[in-house]
Amino acid sequence: MTARVLDGKAIALQIRHEVQLEVAKVIEATGKAPCLAAVLVGDDPASQVYVRNKEMACHKAGIGSQLFRLPAETTTEQLLSLVEQLNNDPSVHGILVQLPLPKHIDERRVLDCVAPHKDVDAFAPENVGLMSQGRPRYLPCTPHGVMQLLHREGIETAGKEVVVIGRSDIVGKPLVSMLLQKSGPCGESNANATVTCVHSRTPNLSEVTCRADILIVAIGKANFVTAGMVKPGAVVIDVGINRSGDSIVGDVDYHAVKEVASAITPVPGGVGPLTIAMLLRNTLEAFRVAQLKMTT
Ligand code: NDP
Repeated sequence: MTARVLDGKAIALQIRHEVQLEVAKVIEATGKAPCLAAVLVGDDPASQVYVRNKEMACHKAGIGSQLFRLPAETTTEQLLSLVEQLNNDPSVHGILVQLPLPKHIDERRVLDCVAPHKDVDAFAPENVGLMSQGRPRYLPCTPHGVMQLLHREGIETAGKEVVVIGRSDIVGKPLVSMLLQKSGPCGESNANATVTCVHSRTPNLSEVTCRADILIVAIGKANFVTAGMVKPGAVVIDVGINRSGDSIVGDVDYHAVKEVASAITPVPGGVGPLTIAMLLRNTLEAFRVAQLKMTT
């Protein structure tokens, strides 16, 4: 069997186009455009690329963007003060603090300082709580991208055995939460999964992963998942981004697993582009939240 390749890039473009059309409508209705403020501390090359891509994507969607570049020596207090300023700026609807922050900065304090209604990454405890109760304000971008990818490729999760490798707050845990809900952004057929989450302390990992109808991998280890860890005919979603020289590889041994799976995401061109698309959607949503706040 050779797996169908799931084209995340094409789906991301489709979502971005949908957002662009909705943005045009809100601009026409309100005379204002949604605006995303991105904060970049230090000169990590990968972060610079991510932030530039996000700015370009905003521009194409008709969303305004502001970039705040701070030197690597910035203190936690200085960063907190900028975030507070953005929290109080009515022309800013979404705030994104690009991670990772330099080690001396208290990342948790900074993320907790972002006003929940401007928290387009959906990291704030209030937003995580709302999501886990099945009434999300914003959905975290990468997990939501995975859900949209599955849905738009016609892959249902209801009643399926889904195994998620990785339990980070950014990818693994929110994915588990979204898959477990009775319904979600893509309806009941793309929720209601039987979910198992495995991590570095899970013994006999392959025994668990081989049960998966859908295997989602987010660990940050190049080519970690081999063909022997995948049930024949499973759908494999690779969230991993690992730099290998000049190129990028996923957490899945793509060429080997492609011969076992029924569908697989490539890296690059799989989940990655969806993260930005969902960030744009959240920024539009944040604009709507702000408009609603003004009228109530
Ligand atoms: P983290 O490092 O925060 O978490 C990694 C998780 O993988 C942890 O739960 C860890 O377990 C688990 N893990 C590590 N090694 C193993 C192992 N040998 N066996 C089983 N589990 C293991 O990573 P993130 O979740 O932030 O990111 C994961 C990957 O996804 C990275 O490559 C990252 O670059 C990529 N990513 C891609 C995005 C996109 O837009 N496509 C967005 C965000 C991330 P434990 O908790 O026990 O330590």
